[in-house]
Amino acid sequence: MAARRILAGGIAQESHSFNPILMGRGSFTITAGDGAVESARGTNSTLGGIIATAEEAGAEVIVPALFRAQSGGPVEDAVFEEVLVAMLDAARRGGFDAIVLPLHGGMLTPTRHDPEGELVRELRLVVGPSVPITVAFDLHAHVTPELLQDCDFLAAYLTNPHADQAATGMRAARAALAMLDRTLEPVLAWSHLPMLTLGNDRTDHEPLLGLHATARAAVLAGRVHDASIFNVQQFLNVPGLGQVVMAYGNGRSEEAEHLVAELAAKLWAARASLIGTYPSLDECLARVVAGTPRPLVLGDQGDRVAAGAPGDSTVILHALLALGRDLPALVPVRDAAAVAACRAAGIGATTTVTLGGRTSTAAPPVTLTGEVIAAGAGASFTYVGPAERGQRAQIGPFAVLRVGAVKVALTADPYSYLDPGYFRAMGLEPADQRVIVVRSGYHFTLNFASIGECITVDTPGMSAYRVADLPFTVARPFHPLDAIELAPSVRVKRRAAG
Ligand SMILES: [Zn+2]
Repeated sequence: MAARRILAGGIAQESHSFNPILMGRGSFTITAGDGAVESARGTNSTLGGIIATAEEAGAEVIVPALFRAQSGGPVEDAVFEEVLVAMLDAARRGGFDAIVLPLHGGMLTPTRHDPEGELVRELRLVVGPSVPITVAFDLHAHVTPELLQDCDFLAAYLTNPHADQAATGMRAARAALAMLDRTLEPVLAWSHLPMLTLGNDRTDHEPLLGLHATARAAVLAGRVHDASIFNVQQFLNVPGLGQVVMAYGNGRSEEAEHLVAELAAKLWAARASLIGTYPSLDECLARVVAGTPRPLVLGDQGDRVAAGAPGDSTVILHALLALGRDLPALVPVRDAAAVAACRAAGIGATTTVTLGGRTSTAAPPVTLTGEVIAAGAGASFTYVGPAERGQRAQIGPFAVLRVGAVKVALTADPYSYLDPGYFRAMGLEPADQRVIVVRSGYHFTLNFASIGECITVDTPGMSAYRVADLPFTVARPFHPLDAIELAPSVRVKRRAAG
């Protein structure tokens, strides 16, 4: 028998409905063919997991195109359409046994609120009902009934902060291989809850810790094949916004239905406790001034690029400058014009630039006179991890402006700074600072744990958990903005006969 082949690829990005800056092709890391497989092999990425599982089973992975980007505003339609065409062309060419897609699931384009569902639906139309299509998503995906209709198996990350990217890809790939072996006949039970988790949604804390433990116990006991809890990206103004709890039975649905009913009821009952509170910026900076044993790594809640915000907030920079300029600190700000001005001035020059506060309006721009201590474009680095360990990434045009001991890391593109490697690529050492600002709320805590004490601070902005301040329209009603009476219900979907 010829070796099995798996078609893998697609587009992975998380969008924020209220970020007005559309994401273009230049913001994506694009891989294809052997290069895509080589660069993902052995990494803690979803594609890395798909490759590991496939190769262990003697199967080959074909990647027509994989576009990956940081979170941000909606993706230009033309970018999505390019990927769609590449995947559909490959599907029409054939020569594969199953499709396994490493996606995010929370992407938007200006005209689409479920592009991943469209990709799966179009692939299904090409390959027909018998070819397994399985998908790996971030647990912040927006899962639609349409997507569930056309994919045979869907797996979410089980951890937030996300540490199980490869393991999720493995679950999706194993399911596809098991379907080919006819040892798995996935039957889906699922429930939708119109609610958001807002800040107390780490999977290593209650209430999600207990829910995941219940799900895992059911999988380990063989009562269900797999289970996922989707907590959804909170800043999607889309119809049907909410949580999705799901489980797959093998050939039958009763146990999966029971598990989903239990998890959905518990999640709905816990909705008030999923809304978290965070320390204030003043409180955190007072601690730094008083002296902390380790650097403080501050997640800027209001401007989390990791949640799709623009990355140019000056809220924390204003507060640091107000303390004087002696505190060794790193503050990343996305500002293409300021990068260009610093690069024009040159390394070693003293220059005055106005920066930040262009799209983020929580605080005004800052005008600073300082020394340009680094500048460049295209500096690449490898994630130290553990999250996404081994993943390669690149910093586009950048410049570092030093004002006293405060270093402003200016970039033309937004980054979430999930890994110390971002700063090191610009010649900055996070471990030497007293304060490091990152544009993430959870994920940075994994890769910065060795550097300092990681705290998310309650700053205002587009990605603050203050959803009442945002112009949600079509996503309504949802908890906590609306009072909803609900008895969670469970739906079942069997695979179309193949
Ligand atoms: Zn996520």
